[in-house]
Amino acid sequence: MVLLLRYGEIHLKGLNRPHFEKLLRDAVRRALTPYPQAKVSRGTGRFYVTGLEDSELPGAEAALRRVFGLHSFSEAVETEKTDDLLPLKEALAEMAREWMRREGRETATFKVETKRADKRFPATSMQISADIGGYVLEHVPGMTVDVHDPDLRLYAEVREKCYGYTGIIPGAGGLPPRSSGRAMLLLSGGIDSPAAGYLIAKRGVELHAVHFHSFPFTSEQARQKVVDLARILSSMTGPITLNVVPFTEIQTKIHTDCPPEMMVLIMRRFMMRIAAALAGAQECAALVTGESIGQVASQTLASLRVTDCVADMPVFRPLIGFDKLDIIALAESIGTYETSILPYEDCCTVFVPKHPLTNPHEDRIAKAESVLPIDELVQKAVAGTETFRVTP
Ligand code: ATP
Ligand code: MG
Repeated sequence: MVLLLRYGEIHLKGLNRPHFEKLLRDAVRRALTPYPQAKVSRGTGRFYVTGLEDSELPGAEAALRRVFGLHSFSEAVETEKTDDLLPLKEALAEMAREWMRREGRETATFKVETKRADKRFPATSMQISADIGGYVLEHVPGMTVDVHDPDLRLYAEVREKCYGYTGIIPGAGGLPPRSSGRAMLLLSGGIDSPAAGYLIAKRGVELHAVHFHSFPFTSEQARQKVVDLARILSSMTGPITLNVVPFTEIQTKIHTDCPPEMMVLIMRRFMMRIAAALAGAQECAALVTGESIGQVASQTLASLRVTDCVADMPVFRPLIGFDKLDIIALAESIGTYETSILPYEDCCTVFVPKHPLTNPHEDRIAKAESVLPIDELVQKAVAGTETFRVTP
């Protein structure tokens, strides 16, 4: 059995293609480290994984489903490429018989779909499909053809060698890890920001993360929860550099010196400034947050504008058009949800005013916060930041 791996968009990358392929191959190898005898090789537009025992396939496939850049994969039988394709036909007929046994079927319909990547091979895809179909009709009792809605699809590929398979397993999609630069994720302990980080990392962006911690208003467990979330993310994104920023002094000062209805927005502007400073120092090209329009007062369009404008780099919000239920479904599918809902306080929930502004004016916010020594507070927070790498 060989695993045939397909990689979506890499073929679009022109001269960068070898680089993307190398990054993807490295990621596949990393995912398969628990299977040291697995061998990853490259064909045209495909990777092949050989050397896995049948009993290892479910584990290996679960690991591969988390590799960004892999579009889909299949468990295939590899056969020699002969003119009559007999080995391939026999293999597919055996797969069909095996499927009938497994499903406990007496009769079933099938269809053959062929890809002829080797354009020197004389027969066309259509001719190959018809030829294989005829062989299966003759050799697998109970099977008939239905080209519109078959019970079983038999796939044939004619490449360096021939490959036959019956199923296509979807991969994570996206682009290979570390193929698209680096960004700084504002990572709270909530449901949204890990999901936002996932979507950005899926496009090949390397993640750094920053968390604002307000000890003793927020507990050691709240901090640990964020480390745990970064760890879960890192199993898909690769190692994450996590910055934990001491935020207590800033929060306290805003609380005592600024109008309560502006508290959250001023706090978020400080977060943006500090995140941007750390991002600059760590060569990140953008900030990423888990905000979506209208979810809370600080996420109205007017509020987003007021927080956006203090960052001197692009701020990406990949969840901007998501409903909360969609975000929850995404968080569940990537495995962060259970950790996110653990009941520890977040710094944004400490000192939350009853009536936060939903239609703030930049000038008024800027005036209100100008009573604080902004640059000094930002520099002090950056200097007090603890930075470490989180690995799976
Ligand atoms: P989340 O589920 O991500 O916490 P949320 O709906 O609770 O989001 P807010 O608390 O308003 O929303 O935060 C909006 C965004 O600001 C978060 O998605 C995150 O990117 C960032 N953020 C909020 N609190 C923190 C924090 N303590 N540390 C780092 N980033 C934060
Ligand atoms: Mg939150």
